[in-house]
Amino acid sequence: MPTLIETLLSLGILKKQDADYLKEESGKTEKSIEALIYEEKLASEEEVAEAKSKIFNVPFRKISEGTEIPEDVLKQISEEAAKFYKFVPLGKRGGILEIGILNPGDFEAKEALKFIAAKEGFAPEFFIITPTTYEQILKRYKTFGEEVTRTLKELETEAFIERGPGIELPIEAPGEAEKIAKEAPIIKMVAVIIKYAVEGRASDIHVEPTKDNLRVRFRVDGVLHAALSLPLNIAPAVVTRIKILSNLRIDETRVPQDGRFHTKVGLKDIDFRISTFPTSLGEKVAMRVLDPSTGLRGLPDLGLQFNNLKKVEQGIKKPFGMILLSGPTGSGKTTTLYGILNILNKEGVNIVTLEDPVEYYISGVNQSQIRPEIGYSFATGLRNVLRQDPNIIMVGEIRDEETASLATHAALTGHIVLSTIHTNNAVGIIHRLIDLKVAPYLIPSSLILCVAQRLIRRLCPRCKEKIKANPEMEKLILNEVSKLPQAIQKELKVSSPIYVYQPKGCDKCLSQGTRGRVAIFETLTMSPQLEKIIIEKPIESEIIREGQRQEMTTMLQDGIIKVLQGLISIGEVVQATEIEK
Ligand SMILES: [Zn+2]
Repeated sequence: MPTLIETLLSLGILKKQDADYLKEESGKTEKSIEALIYEEKLASEEEVAEAKSKIFNVPFRKISEGTEIPEDVLKQISEEAAKFYKFVPLGKRGGILEIGILNPGDFEAKEALKFIAAKEGFAPEFFIITPTTYEQILKRYKTFGEEVTRTLKELETEAFIERGPGIELPIEAPGEAEKIAKEAPIIKMVAVIIKYAVEGRASDIHVEPTKDNLRVRFRVDGVLHAALSLPLNIAPAVVTRIKILSNLRIDETRVPQDGRFHTKVGLKDIDFRISTFPTSLGEKVAMRVLDPSTGLRGLPDLGLQFNNLKKVEQGIKKPFGMILLSGPTGSGKTTTLYGILNILNKEGVNIVTLEDPVEYYISGVNQSQIRPEIGYSFATGLRNVLRQDPNIIMVGEIRDEETASLATHAALTGHIVLSTIHTNNAVGIIHRLIDLKVAPYLIPSSLILCVAQRLIRRLCPRCKEKIKANPEMEKLILNEVSKLPQAIQKELKVSSPIYVYQPKGCDKCLSQGTRGRVAIFETLTMSPQLEKIIIEKPIESEIIREGQRQEMTTMLQDGIIKVLQGLISIGEVVQATEIEK
């Protein structure tokens, strides 16, 4: 590998005498060549970065001053690690975290990053950055600490003003903590901690006294990070403030207490579940952040209703077996899987996932990012996961025979297995499994439920326009409704003439006419009848007939139901379900 000096020479940036000088000087002063280059202004930071890029075959990423690194990207790497190993996060793309690094030759730094990446579930991609860029990004870490320091200063000033000069802060006298807890700076301090926790997507906040300070830690994506340390003397006031918020007894510090409170952080309504715990060093507080907007949605909210909802609810109550979701990319399968996982995510259940990429983090679930490029595939992952004593396994996708066979056996050996599979509809899932060489006689005892879905844009409730269905629409609607179970037909109350809604556009929906999306579903359950078909004659027409016997609502029918409910436009339903015909 050429040295930095050699590379800069070959690029014509350094002259021979500069090179000689650098070698001699670095020997004398023990300063690094790079530091000397900058000191003597022999090359610019960018020129050095370009040279390093050549040496290590790592691209150079030029970052202009003032470029903001989003909070959630920054949180992937702790400030300590960034400082110690001289790398900083730059951006995120799916499961990839872009890392700006000063010395790509630093083996220790790369090993440390590999460790962090495995723990946090991302794949690192390296870029060389200049020292100036590195310092700029490092500064972004300071904001939280700065805000807290400012509040601490206010606290000192306020205490100073109220009690006259010369009075220090220690809060030992009984009743004093309560008094100070009600003062503006402590109220603000707790609010600042909560704000940063929510903005940083923390699932838990720990406020704990240590020997030297009051330590505040955030759990983000399952990992605890030190967020800040506060002077020990304000610990009782901070803890008291949290207890006041959650209606806990402030005079009781010797027994654990549980409570909760609700507050607005920015535009979000957030619930906090509080638990206090007496330690020999004082009371410790753990706060669980319950953010309802974090992407986990209940099943009805996803668009599951009537028979589909019932079948999914029944399916996920089974003690073991496979639940398979199908649909093209972008059909919302992952969101549905997360919704199901969230329901199954209970204390005492070990959930392990293999994902590509990990799209959303669920507190308490062991999520793993597969890396086919290093041989960590769905299949190899699945084999390892089984040794982790899981109850529930989520596998991103079943796309090869090996994964199909492993998933089937995991289901047969007492696990709930959730996965996606590529087919056009729910009925097709059975054929796909047979195509992937799963023995038909294993399917009835391993498969619980087949789900297929598509995503449809939801009409803007503010500006959607009511129109009379044209004869063509009317024919389609009446035809599909007639095939629906009586109970649903009754509920829908189809009028004559039929009215439907179409998108228009207003300022609320940015003239789109739609806001958000909702899925249309179809679900096929394993039944004794289906078992017989699979073993004796697994042809599509037979499976479709069994679907009809089960009163399966097809995606088209579910779409028509949602059209009649005024949720979506008929045009989109027809378009989304066209491949079926
Ligand atoms: Zn609108």
